[in-house]
Amino acid sequence: MHEYSIVQSLLNRVQDSLRGYDVRSVRRLRLRLGELSGVDPGLLRTAYELCAPGSVCDGAELEIASVPALWRCPACDRDAPAGARLACPSCGGGVRLLEGDEIVLETIDVEVEHV
Ligand SMILES: [Zn+2]
Repeated sequence: MHEYSIVQSLLNRVQDSLRGYDVRSVRRLRLRLGELSGVDPGLLRTAYELCAPGSVCDGAELEIASVPALWRCPACDRDAPAGARLACPSCGGGVRLLEGDEIVLETIDVEVEHV
C-alpha cells in the first residue's frame, strides 16, 4: 500500500535527521498532509502504528495536520473558493495550486539524554 512506503520513508527521514545527536527517544512527529496529496490520513496512521514499533519512532505520537487545497490566480493574486469551478473569480483565468498536495514532516519532538 502507498501509505506504507510513505511511512517507511518518513521513518528513514527521522532517523537521518537524528543521526549524530544524543537522542533518547522521539516523542512526537508532526506532519502536514495536503488534501490533494492522495494520502488517506486514517490509512497513514494505521501504517504508522504498524511500522513505528522497533523503529526510531517507537512510542512516538503522530500528529497529522490536514492542509486544505488552496488555488490562486497568478494574474490577479486572488484565491479561487473551494468547491468552485477551478477558475479565477475575477478574470476567469486559470488558477494554480498553492498548497494542498504536500506531505511535509514539520517537527520532530525528541527527548535527549541528560548529562
Ligand atoms: Zn484572475
